[in-house]
Amino acid sequence: MKDATIALHHGFKSDPTTKAVAVPIYQNVAFEFDNAQHGADLFNLDVPGNIYTRIMNPTNDVLEQRMAALEGGIAGLAVAAGSAAIHYAIQTLTQAGDNIVSTPQLYGGTYTLFAHLLPSFGVEVRFARDDSPEAIAELIDDKTKLVYCESIGNPAGNIVDIEGLAQAAHARNVPLMVDNTVATPILCKPIQFGADIVVHSVTKYVGGHGNSLGGVIVDSGNFPWAEHPQKFASLNTPEPAYHGVVYTEKFGPAAFIARARTVPLRNTGAALAPMNAFLLLQGLETLALRMERHTDNAIRVAQFLKDHPLVAWVSYAGLADHPHHELAHKYMQGKPSAILSFGLKGGYAAGVRFYDALQIFKRLVNIGDAKSLACHPASTTHRQMNEQEQAKAGVKPEMIRLSVGIEAIEDLLEDLDQALKQA
Ligand SMILES: *Cc1c(COP(=O)(O)O)cnc(C)c1O
Repeated sequence: MKDATIALHHGFKSDPTTKAVAVPIYQNVAFEFDNAQHGADLFNLDVPGNIYTRIMNPTNDVLEQRMAALEGGIAGLAVAAGSAAIHYAIQTLTQAGDNIVSTPQLYGGTYTLFAHLLPSFGVEVRFARDDSPEAIAELIDDKTKLVYCESIGNPAGNIVDIEGLAQAAHARNVPLMVDNTVATPILCKPIQFGADIVVHSVTKYVGGHGNSLGGVIVDSGNFPWAEHPQKFASLNTPEPAYHGVVYTEKFGPAAFIARARTVPLRNTGAALAPMNAFLLLQGLETLALRMERHTDNAIRVAQFLKDHPLVAWVSYAGLADHPHHELAHKYMQGKPSAILSFGLKGGYAAGVRFYDALQIFKRLVNIGDAKSLACHPASTTHRQMNEQEQAKAGVKPEMIRLSVGIEAIEDLLEDLDQALKQA
């Protein structure tokens, strides 16, 4: 099936008891065992089935299967937020003394996790000097457990060479993990280009309506964990946190996702609420359609701003003059999602006036909503930094970041035009 069909049908036929067609919300914590043996078999992971919603839930299961199918992976794991998905995916492979290697331009929350929290637990994060496969390769050593990147960086909108990074990682027997939140599997499928693990904040475009947090990890099933038993000991030696199971023996190619579920999620509990899984599935049903409209609107907005006399610069990889335009064609058919940034000729003060004058674009810090959103980083998210620190983070005083929604394009352009005039 094609993406638009998978998003509507994969992983659920109709409820066997009631014949309901919408995915039921299993608002339920624990599931009954037929008898003691059945309970034991479930706990031994010998038979599939539900035990407790912290570990698995039938509503969440549909979201997991659908996201895995869209990404071309073998299995998925849904959790409470994108941040939890990233942390759990990394915890599945690392322990104190290990390191991971990352591209430098990242979502702010991921940067904080990497720069501060992971090191406090003894996991070193090595930020490459740039996104190139060469810069990544230089930092990989025997203790490196994964290479990390975002297919489209948030907020910079930079596009990474997924295939090049996968080659650099695989040459040293290390998996590539890609945050595909901004692109979504509709526009880009990192596994096709060699990624081994894909992580998502489904809070953004997948949910698409700004009403539920959620995260998903997708395992490609392709990385040969069992060929490197010492490097990936957590998947190849008896698991003390789960009565001695050896994941690669019990789960074969799905070893990674099985450990993510039974160790980080089971032990620390950032489980996705079934109600949120339902809302996120509602969003997912129309994702393919929305991404078409998001990207059509984004290129129109980018061109409008580029031609506007009050605008100094526009950064969107869908524009031919963007340095990553070629990469946008290779990895996302020239449609690099709908996040773009631009600067006003009038500097910081004009940026603030523009921001305050917006009528349709919402002033907030989120992306990927069906509604259009705007953020002025220098006066909000990056306010605590001085100008030097802001520059390092890629934030200019006059910069505005837009997440272009699916409203009628005429109304969006009119809103931008009136706000520019007031700025
Ligand atoms: C929002 C976001 C996250 C974090 O997701 P939450 O669901 O807010 O925890 C991670 N990565 C990217 C690229 C994001 O945009």
